[in-house]
Amino acid sequence: MYHNTLSKKFFQRAKDLIPGGVNSPVRACQSVGCDPIFIEKGDQCYLYDPDGNSYIDYVCSWGPMILGHCHPHVVSAVSEALGQGTSFGAPTWREVTLAQKIVEHVPSIEKIRLVNSGTEATMSAIRLARGFTGRKKILKFDGCYHGHADSFLVKAGSGVATLGIPGSPGVPEEIVANTISIPFNDRDAFTEAIDKEGRELAAVIMEPVPANMGVILPDEGYLEFVREKTKQEDILLIFDEVITGFRLGLGGAQEFFGVTPDLTCLGKIIGGGLPVGAYGGRKDIMDQIAPAGPVYQAGTLSGNPLATAAGIATLEVLERPGTYESLGEKMDYLANGLSEIASKHGISCINQRVGSMMTTFFGRKAPVRNFQDAMQADTEMYGRFFRKMLKEGVWLAPSQFEAAFISLAHDWETLEFTLGAAESAFIHLANS
Ligand SMILES: *Cc1c(COP(=O)(O)O)cnc(C)c1O
Repeated sequence: MYHNTLSKKFFQRAKDLIPGGVNSPVRACQSVGCDPIFIEKGDQCYLYDPDGNSYIDYVCSWGPMILGHCHPHVVSAVSEALGQGTSFGAPTWREVTLAQKIVEHVPSIEKIRLVNSGTEATMSAIRLARGFTGRKKILKFDGCYHGHADSFLVKAGSGVATLGIPGSPGVPEEIVANTISIPFNDRDAFTEAIDKEGRELAAVIMEPVPANMGVILPDEGYLEFVREKTKQEDILLIFDEVITGFRLGLGGAQEFFGVTPDLTCLGKIIGGGLPVGAYGGRKDIMDQIAPAGPVYQAGTLSGNPLATAAGIATLEVLERPGTYESLGEKMDYLANGLSEIASKHGISCINQRVGSMMTTFFGRKAPVRNFQDAMQADTEMYGRFFRKMLKEGVWLAPSQFEAAFISLAHDWETLEFTLGAAESAFIHLANS
């Protein structure tokens, strides 16, 4: 019989010491109606908890673990770096190697600056855009998440959407007054916003494939449309590829869709599970950053030796031929399988996927094209699905508004097992 006594005990202690017992809100599992599972260790596509349960991991640390846990190439690269010292506050060759790889692969990036998280990357990118253009406002899309900096906490995705809060206390009105948020995939809303605010907009920032309100695909031609419009008004286009970078291919969503932004934010995968973010783009813009230019941004641990070692090793494995084809095939198999089983048992849901990321939106048959659609999903049903899958040994994102990821370590047998578990879960849902 499944039990998680020790996880519950740890969580009780954690709640006395850490707000909500967690260091990032969605981990608390509130919206799916259970307590968090504490993780003791990971190995390949499996997670292990202190109560002796194991789970197939479809969260992959919210994206970074595209090779699975403890990939031998990453373990040996990080171990080697560890033996040489963990931080110097001076340049190292690994930073240059990681920068070189990113510049080679990501079409928009001619120069790159490494930071410590996706949040740092996006907040630095908009400071740069403001410094470069001399304009103040930014435009974002409802349900997109760009980290937790003040400017982005307006109709944001991820935990903000999961908890159902519009913004956050502590963010001054004066700051969010400079952030405009409009629906994704809506050309009229975009044109209207540009007509009204275009001259004051420093940047349009977007997840080219939104994945923090669940996975949503850009309509055919939508990214091209946004690119064209921003160019006409000299507004910088920033792709937040913290999730899609090195997930949809080595060149990210921009290569996948053939649309090149001015600046790109990266994170997650490029750190191979260690804390890394980055922002990069056109040389003339990037050279505005200190000490090359006047826009200030710095970091004690930026370009950290362990983090860059993990990042380089991760990219080296991803560069091997056939990687993304294999990830894509497996995700197709999983998504198609889920759709088939769901319709067999009369469960109404839609699987939206691209590459190796996917969201199953419950209670929806029509495509989910924006935040408003996503909010119609049946979160209570998702919660029941989540809890049943957990007991079957499958670890899904503890929120309807997040993506499921697979890694290179997910093999066919694991996927087969997952489909079996999903079938039991759907039968359970159909009969309750
Ligand atoms: C995760 C994420 C961020 C924030 O990155 P952190 O490392 O959590 O600060 C920013 N943008 C997108 C699209 C993300 O998915």
